[in-house]
Amino acid sequence: MKKHPAVIVVGGGAAGILAALQARRQGASVRIVEKTDRLGTKILISGGGKCNVAHDGPLEDVIKAFRPNEARFIRPACYRLTNQQIIEMFTSRGLEVYTRPNGRVFPVHQTAKDVVAILEGYLEEAGVEIIRDCAVLEVISESNQIQGIRTAQGDMQTSHLVLSVGGSSYPKTGCTGDGWPWAKALGHQIVKVRAALAPVYLEMESADPRAGVSLRDVILKARIQGKEIARWSGDVLLTHRGLSGPCVLGITRIIAERFHEGPVTLEADLEPEKSFEVLSGEIQCWIQENPKKFILSVLNTNIPERIRENILEFAEIDNQPGRSLSKKLLNRLIENLKAFPLGTVRTVPLEKGEVVAGGVSLDEVDPQTMRSKICRGLYLCGEILDIAGPVGGYNLQAAFATGFVAGETAGQDALLDRS
Ligand SMILES: Cc1cc2nc3c(=O)[nH]c(=O)nc-3n(C[C@H](O)[C@H](O)[C@H](O)COP(=O)(O)OP(=O)(O)OC[C@H]3O[C@@H](n4cnc5c(N)ncnc54)[C@H](O)[C@@H]3O)c2cc1C
Repeated sequence: MKKHPAVIVVGGGAAGILAALQARRQGASVRIVEKTDRLGTKILISGGGKCNVAHDGPLEDVIKAFRPNEARFIRPACYRLTNQQIIEMFTSRGLEVYTRPNGRVFPVHQTAKDVVAILEGYLEEAGVEIIRDCAVLEVISESNQIQGIRTAQGDMQTSHLVLSVGGSSYPKTGCTGDGWPWAKALGHQIVKVRAALAPVYLEMESADPRAGVSLRDVILKARIQGKEIARWSGDVLLTHRGLSGPCVLGITRIIAERFHEGPVTLEADLEPEKSFEVLSGEIQCWIQENPKKFILSVLNTNIPERIRENILEFAEIDNQPGRSLSKKLLNRLIENLKAFPLGTVRTVPLEKGEVVAGGVSLDEVDPQTMRSKICRGLYLCGEILDIAGPVGGYNLQAAFATGFVAGETAGQDALLDRS
């Protein structure tokens, strides 16, 4: 019969791997118990299989990309495992990386598989025991002290348990929100779990024939009863069911939070660099110089043709020579360029999000140690916590850093208890 490990880490994703490694480095015996047959299932699909492994630049900027309460919580952990240290953790094992102008760090040739292989290499060298294909079913505690876990392969005893089972998006990766009922049963508050960094499905009668069309460098605005509730800059991709792309992922957390207030409509400013007046002046100038040219050709050719046709259609303007365009029609044309209607949100599918917002309340976890303030011997890290950063390598930063600290504390506590 196997000896009981000093520390058990439930969930072998980004946070769990770092926790196990760091606990082992303290000298504690460590076991990862992972539900699926692989470690890092979410890392493998991250960044479209490329893995945006970190965000470069000043650490404070990385931290401030999170909401203020989340930033306050992750700050100590991020200073313990900085973005530069994360990058070095991979580059020192041969991963070549490059940084995009927007700060996102990706492997040059390799894929997310190489990122996971490097992490597995660290675990093997450190001597972390890994049990795959073993779902944890329950956490066992007595008088607010962790005793162990109940798994599909029987009970396992430990007094130091790191919970790093992630969130509940992409359930096929093994992440089905298992950790929240356990944390709740141990006395933790769970902040309502909502979609974040997800696509949007729109109200529509049939699949959008424009699927695949991209709107580049626009400002996407969300409104409820005409009042703007959120905006985000970037690219929008039209899909069969609605919208996706970085800009859409950026705005969905707020939409999911405000959805109950009323129908949310979306529109895109297709010419965000130019004011209404500047656009009006430019178009009038163009018409004067090209009076016989048709109005469709005046529109910025960076805007896809299908969308330019929509603009005329929505503004109820025939594609006519520019000289015949009245002032009233010109204004309608510009109104549609500055607020191109995209539709009404039907839903934000939580399961399709890169992360979920909500989870174990940050008030009940010590940010310096990741110890639960409620239950002795419990450490929480990664997406199980109420943290959701934007797209750009921020979420792996939060998972790696909080995992690092949780593991270090659990390992040290375990050794102290034994001495
Ligand atoms: C499509 C997609 C793309 C992404 N791209 C990026 C990106 O490029 N950059 C970035 O920074 N972030 C990205 N993210 C987000 C990032 O992957 C997550 O924030 C991060 O993986 C969370 O780490 P975690 O360790 O907390 O949870 P996870 O990585 O989700 O790991 C949790 C682990 O726990 C296991 N588990 C769950 N329940 C149990 C149980 N009952 N028993 C045992 N084990 C269990 C799961 O199988 C899983 O292996 C992306 C996410 C998705 C879905």
